[in-house]
Amino acid sequence: MALGISLVHCTKKKMSETILYQVAIVGGGLGGLTLSIQLAKQGIAVVLFEKKKYPFHKVCGEYISLESKPFLERCGIDFSKWDIPIITELSVSAPNGRQVKQHLPLGGFGISRYSLDAELKTLALKNGVSIYENTTVHAVTRLHKDQYTLDTSNGMFTAQLVVGSYGKRSNLDIKFQRSFIKRKPHALANFIGVKYHIKVTQGLANEIQLHNFKNGYCGFSKVEGNTWCLCYLTTAANLQEHGSIEALEREVLSQNPHLKAILESSQKLYNEPLTISNIDFSKKELMKDGVIFLGDAAGMITPLCGNGMSIAMHASHHLSKLIPHYLNGVFSVAQLLERYTQFWKKNFAKRLWVGRLIQRSFGRPVLSNWVVRFFAVNKKLLYLLIRQTHGKTF
Ligand SMILES: Cc1cc2nc3c(=O)[nH]c(=O)nc-3n(C[C@H](O)[C@H](O)[C@H](O)COP(=O)(O)OP(=O)(O)OC[C@H]3O[C@@H](n4cnc5c(N)ncnc54)[C@H](O)[C@@H]3O)c2cc1C
Repeated sequence: MALGISLVHCTKKKMSETILYQVAIVGGGLGGLTLSIQLAKQGIAVVLFEKKKYPFHKVCGEYISLESKPFLERCGIDFSKWDIPIITELSVSAPNGRQVKQHLPLGGFGISRYSLDAELKTLALKNGVSIYENTTVHAVTRLHKDQYTLDTSNGMFTAQLVVGSYGKRSNLDIKFQRSFIKRKPHALANFIGVKYHIKVTQGLANEIQLHNFKNGYCGFSKVEGNTWCLCYLTTAANLQEHGSIEALEREVLSQNPHLKAILESSQKLYNEPLTISNIDFSKKELMKDGVIFLGDAAGMITPLCGNGMSIAMHASHHLSKLIPHYLNGVFSVAQLLERYTQFWKKNFAKRLWVGRLIQRSFGRPVLSNWVVRFFAVNKKLLYLLIRQTHGKTF
C-alpha cells in the first residue's frame, strides 16, 4: 500500500483520503491472485477485491494441468506441505458404461480450490498486495486515460489500470453491457455446475475419470488429503426437468453404472452441493471500457478439457509482463490490448475451439456411446486429441 500515491478523493458516496493504486484487480480467483503476486513482486502497487472471504469452496473439477505447476511454485506455493496426487491416467465412460482409458500426455495434479486460493491469498499479502475480502465491486468508471474509480461495497478506490478477473459471469458484465450477456443462451447451451467433496472406499489416486450421462458429464478425481472431487456440468433444462439435484442424480447420472457406483458408495462432505448457473462458453471480448479481462472473464474453456485454471494463470503470467510497459508509458491501452490479443489467439484460441467441439459430443447418449467406442479402438487418436487441450509449461 505504501507504494501507491496518496490523494484526496471526493465522491457522493464517500469522501476519504484514498490511495491511487497502479493496478486494481477485481476478483481473487487463480487469475487475479497470481497476477497480483507477480505485479507486487515487480514493485507495483496492487489492490485486489474479492467478494467472498477466504477460504471458500468453488465449483471446479480441481484437476490442474502440470503445465502450471512450475509457475505456481514460482509464485511461492510449496506443494510439499500437501499430499497432492499426480494424475497420469484418464478414463472416459459413455452413458451406457462402456469405458476407454488412456495415459495422459502431460498429466496434472489434484488440489482443492479451498486450499489453493487461500494459500495464494496469503502469498499475495506477503508480497504487499492490498486485499479487500468480502468486498464486491459494483462499478468501474474510466475518469480519463489512466485513471479509473471502483465503486465497491467497501467504498471508492482509484487505480491507473483495472483488470477484471471476476470469473464466468458477474454483476459487472451487466454494467459493462458485454456482448455475451445480451445474447439469450440456447436451452442446450445454458449450463449449471454442481460439485461435492466426497470420501470414497476405493479409487485410483492417479486417474481422472470423466463419466457421460444424458445432457452432461461428471469429473471425478482425487485432491489433497483423503478427499475426492466430484463435479458435473449439465444443462439448466435437465435440472428443471427432474426438479431437484437428488432426483437428477438418481434418475439421470445413475444411469451410468460407474456414476451409480460412485454416488452409492461415497460419503458427501458438504451438507448441500455447491452449484453455479448460467455458464456459457461463447466468445468474449478481452477489453471493455478500458478494463482488461483475465481468466474466465476473458473466455472460458469447456471444463472437460480440465484446463481453465491453467489458461487463467498462463494469461496472468503474460499480462504481468505487459502491464509494467503500460504503467511506464511505453504502451498505450490500445497497444496493451493488441499484444494481449495476439497472445490469446496464439495460445488459447485453438484449445477453446477444440474444447467446444469435444463438448458437443458429450452428454448426447447415442453420440457419446459411439465416440467412446471409436476411441476404444483408436487410442492413439484419443491421445492426440487430449494433447490439443493441454498447453506447454510457462
Ligand atoms: C463445472 C466446472 C468444472 C471445472 N473443472 C476444472 C478443472 O478440473 N480444471 C481446470 O483447470 N479448470 C476447471 N474449470 C474451470 C476453472 O474453474 C476456471 O477456469 C478458473 O476458476 C478460472 O479462474 P478465474 O480466476 O478466471 O475465475 P474464478 O476462479 O471464478 O474467480 C473469480 C473470483 O471473482 C470473484 N468476483 C466475482 N464478481 C466479483 C465482484 N463484482 N467483485 C469482487 N469479486 C468478484 C468471485 O467470488 C471469484 O472468487 C471448471 C469449471 C466448471 C464450471
